[in-house]
Amino acid sequence: MAASKSPGRFKQRNAIAPHSQQASARRKSIEEQRRALPITIARQKLVDEVHKNDTLVIIGETGSGKTTQLPQFLLRAGFSKRGKMIGITQPRRVAAVTVATRVAEEMGSELGREVGYSIRFEDATSDLTRIKYMTDGMLLREALLDPLLRKYGVIVIDEAHERTVHTDVLLGLLKGVQAKRTEEHGPKKESLKLIVMSATLDAQGFSAFFNNAKIVYIQGRQFPVEIFYTFTSEADILDASLITLLQIHTEEEPGDILVFLTGQEEIESMDRLIHDRLPRLPPGSLKIQVVPIYAALPSEQQVKAFIPAPPGTRKVILATNIAETSVTIPGIRYVVDPGLVKSRSYNPRIGLESLIVVPVSKAQALQRRLVYHVTRFAFPRPGKCYRLYMEETFKQLENATVPEIKRCNLASVVLQLKALGIDDVLGFDFMDKPPKMAILKSLEHLYILGALTDEGKLSDPVGIQMARLPLEPLYAKALLISANFNCSKEMLSAVAMLSVESIFFVPKDKKKEADAAKQRFLSGDGDHITLVSVMRAFTDEVNKSGGGVVSKKQILRWCIENYINMRSLKRAVDIYRQIEGCIQAINLPVVSCGEDFTSFRRCLAAAFFLNAACLQQDGTYRIALRTLANTQVVSIHPSSIMHGKKLDCVVFNELVKTNKQFIRNVTRIDSLWLPELAPHFYGTRDARRGEWPYRHRNNFRNLNLGVLRSFATALPIAVIFP
Ligand code: ADP
Ligand code: MG
Repeated sequence: MAASKSPGRFKQRNAIAPHSQQASARRKSIEEQRRALPITIARQKLVDEVHKNDTLVIIGETGSGKTTQLPQFLLRAGFSKRGKMIGITQPRRVAAVTVATRVAEEMGSELGREVGYSIRFEDATSDLTRIKYMTDGMLLREALLDPLLRKYGVIVIDEAHERTVHTDVLLGLLKGVQAKRTEEHGPKKESLKLIVMSATLDAQGFSAFFNNAKIVYIQGRQFPVEIFYTFTSEADILDASLITLLQIHTEEEPGDILVFLTGQEEIESMDRLIHDRLPRLPPGSLKIQVVPIYAALPSEQQVKAFIPAPPGTRKVILATNIAETSVTIPGIRYVVDPGLVKSRSYNPRIGLESLIVVPVSKAQALQRRLVYHVTRFAFPRPGKCYRLYMEETFKQLENATVPEIKRCNLASVVLQLKALGIDDVLGFDFMDKPPKMAILKSLEHLYILGALTDEGKLSDPVGIQMARLPLEPLYAKALLISANFNCSKEMLSAVAMLSVESIFFVPKDKKKEADAAKQRFLSGDGDHITLVSVMRAFTDEVNKSGGGVVSKKQILRWCIENYINMRSLKRAVDIYRQIEGCIQAINLPVVSCGEDFTSFRRCLAAAFFLNAACLQQDGTYRIALRTLANTQVVSIHPSSIMHGKKLDCVVFNELVKTNKQFIRNVTRIDSLWLPELAPHFYGTRDARRGEWPYRHRNNFRNLNLGVLRSFATALPIAVIFP
């Protein structure tokens, strides 16, 4: 995949001025910190074990030095001989970036040279790179081009306990890769060393999966942590968290506070609540500095959490479960844990993905307790963990979190497995098998999109091309067909804009002005055209002003005036260029429909026909917007510009459930386009008789019966279409 090489981009964060006194003091302090890490004592033993074993499971508490130190040990022990790299996967983008930055600093090299990282749409590596941190999803993509991952001498699956869907697929895949490399080259020369690292004590499962691989435990530093529970259950968690943290702030010794919240919205509310209370703090108390950290926060802002607070200030970090194990934030002494987490769940039958707030597992609660570090204190003092639930509640928590692969949409994963030549997806060596129904649904989904043949193989060229694009299958398909509708530029814009978060910037105190500014880009036909308009206006502004410093200011002013998040938009432009490169690489023309947005909307209908909803009457004669593929009643999400409008027929990108079933990113279409543009799904006969769309599912069932049987003979067809 094409990605922008940017070794120098993070230079500032990583700046080491070798001659300044400050820098040499920092060097010394880093060296001291490293020497004190629990993993340092185990260094030789670990290197020996990696020599002796092809697969190793390493268990060690958060902060013991696994992620930052082990790769450096291996590098110095010569595991990157013959130009082979040491690859370390992370479930989260932030972790890949911050850890690579830290390790580059520790090694005194510029980020992107010896130490680099690779995350989707951002590659900071070079030919010199020996230690490469990357998201687990990126390694999976690399396997498409290099099935035996020959570039790597060692692969470390880090944070394996998180059990993201990509980690789980990698575990199965790497087991096969390792066997194949040994088979081809004999056990020594080209063998792949595999290391699975986890922060929790669930080592047995990993070891068993890898034929009883050796387990090594790193002795942690047992800092005492006092745990507090509430006497009764708390109804208002936000309020309880606020009171707790203010109480810590006014009564406890210095040390930073970490509060675990469920998501961006909650974090922003809490930020506001704290700021409202600041003026009422007793005189003479420490200042408070609030720093949020969550996945969707731009990485430049995420790093703020790692910078120590100035003297006389207490840092309050508001974090999602990202701070449980993936990143190490120094200086934390107090943890406020409401015991909740936002968790993904997926209903394959109706294709509904939902994010619901659920209690954490015992393993998670344990991690949160352990997050406490003493790097900034001269001697260890006890940490404190305030659990905002009762002790009885803790006892009733599930032991471990259910792996994501059992509760998510598998279409993208199945497409990648097919592209890797693994045709028997149901028989793939998963550590935990996903529900059969979910696999079948994704096979069906890919078949309907034309990515699979009647035999269930990747189709040529559609399936092959879809797998090569670093996008969800539905978006990949949309791009592939967009040239036929003369609107590949518009579809590129839409897909790029949908790949970043929060293009529109809505400050807390200027909601009205921000809404008014948004009106300038608004299209009465939907969100996709609105996004395209923003992208067009931005590129016009950039082109108009040319390069240079003055024009940079001009662009920034334009963004401020229009309440546009400049970083997000720049990122979208960057993503646009990268996907454009992928599109050109498969010889598809990049054309624009100009002002003919009907073409674009027809293309959206042709691409997202599976996600269509029309006004329909239900049994009680109530008219409601219902999805056509599975007759779910849906509402348009408040974030959509189509919210509150009465629409006959729409396509959408996301179906999410919060308190209601919402559709997001919505565009108005003509219902007759569906049978015209997706006849294999909707049929044409019924449309002419005026019966459409009520009967479309029967047509489809007749069409695919044989094919779906060949996917899974064991399952009666009725289960697929209940
Ligand atoms: P593990 O992977 O075992 O959880 P890490 O290797 O991530 O541990 O971290 C080891 C230590 O390195 C931490 O305890 C902390 O002192 C230091 N550290 C790691 N990342 C950073 C960072 N971004 N900034 C400052 N210190 C860090
Ligand atoms: Mg780690």
